[in-house]
Amino acid sequence: MKARPYLIALVLIVLVAGLLVVFRTPGGDPAKQQETSPQAAVEAGAGAGDAYYPTDGNSGYDVTLYDLAITYDPGSKKLDGVASVTATASADLARFNLDLEGLKVSEVKVAGQPAKFVQEGDHELVITPAAPLAKGKPFTAVITYGGQPTTIDDASLGRSGWQISSTGGAFAAGQPHSATTWFPANDTPRDKAALKVAARVPDGWTAISNGLEGPATRDGGWTTFTWSEETPLATYLATVAIDKFEVVRSKLPNGTPVVDAYAPGTSAAKKPIQSQGPEVLAYLETKFGPYPQRAAGSIWVADQIGFSLETQTRPIYAAWADLETVVHENAHQWFGDSVSIENWADICLNECLASYAQWLWLEHEGTDLDQRYRDQVEQRRERSSFWAPKLYDMGRGNEFRGVYDKGLMGMHALRKQVGDDVFFKALQSWLVKHRDSNASWPEFEEHFKQASGQPLDPFFKAWFRDSGIPDDQYLLPVGVRR
Ligand SMILES: [Zn+2]
Repeated sequence: MKARPYLIALVLIVLVAGLLVVFRTPGGDPAKQQETSPQAAVEAGAGAGDAYYPTDGNSGYDVTLYDLAITYDPGSKKLDGVASVTATASADLARFNLDLEGLKVSEVKVAGQPAKFVQEGDHELVITPAAPLAKGKPFTAVITYGGQPTTIDDASLGRSGWQISSTGGAFAAGQPHSATTWFPANDTPRDKAALKVAARVPDGWTAISNGLEGPATRDGGWTTFTWSEETPLATYLATVAIDKFEVVRSKLPNGTPVVDAYAPGTSAAKKPIQSQGPEVLAYLETKFGPYPQRAAGSIWVADQIGFSLETQTRPIYAAWADLETVVHENAHQWFGDSVSIENWADICLNECLASYAQWLWLEHEGTDLDQRYRDQVEQRRERSSFWAPKLYDMGRGNEFRGVYDKGLMGMHALRKQVGDDVFFKALQSWLVKHRDSNASWPEFEEHFKQASGQPLDPFFKAWFRDSGIPDDQYLLPVGVRR
């Protein structure tokens, strides 16, 4: 994610004012959560265990595929969906939860049999199958649902989830929450799954989603667009965008299909920027290793939304996005999408590295990064607000405070501390080790300690775990000194 520049300033003002930033009220009142939390192996509970968002996601099962059939009418703004969620029970389950926000469920079947269900709190869908599910066995839950999808208004990030564009179209995007506004999901980055989307829209509209494009079919004034993303993705990286897009198809040199979609009203300046996408990916491959996705491209909306987002294979770009944004969101295809965070406290694994990719691109274009780094250290030395945010375990609501700028500088300092060769080799072996999976910040520290043979604990503490400016020995590693 890359926030709209003024929003970062706004967030800082809000924080300086001492206001408590609350991302979202957890589902249900505390008593109800007690009631639905895991009491025994037979009752999978609300919440996958993230310390910042305890009711997000669910325990007791592992999703392998979301197979979605949705119909969306931009005229009525109504969505109707049937979601087939295939999962494996990780315990014997008498009941389990999915997360769905603002849409009403009309029917649930599990293993082909009608199941009981109840919608509780903000986003808990509690399902009781006709017969308990056996540990280790796959099952499919088919959920029929519909309504007018909701937008989540977030105190620090603006709007996320289902959003209506000025063109009359709609798109789903946001972090940490978005998927639950258009399909029932196990809404935690820890449970990555494949995604298939069949999106039916009135003729003249186009639906773009993640992954590979399948055939489109027409029936009585409607067109169904099909998309398939086999590489498992975290739920917040799933998207569908509906608009009267101009769609441009091409291929990367190795044959990877590229789909770029431009909403009506997108500035003519954006196409030349996006046309550099393949060059950006080719350059990032020289630093991070092979592009880890099966497809590529972009979705350009014409609105000044608060962020651009690394939706898997096909980032969503706001009207303000520029080439640096394209570099940032494509870098996330390695850092965030292929290797996903274990907890929201680990967000620097995504944002510090995607932001550092912007500097790598500048270096590619001839910028002396060491000089730039020294200049920025001097400019910011006395600015305590710049150094205040923690980059690891920063606390709920603070995830996106320091990771873009202080985090970027921390990555350059790490590179200079361990040397170019170790830095890039370690990044590549990290990406290979955790591909299509999840990893945590403490694991990243361990990985670099092993790769470098250096006792990096004090360095990581000074830069990433502590608040405040690092001591000069860590701020100016030998490699960056004049
Ligand atoms: Zn980002």
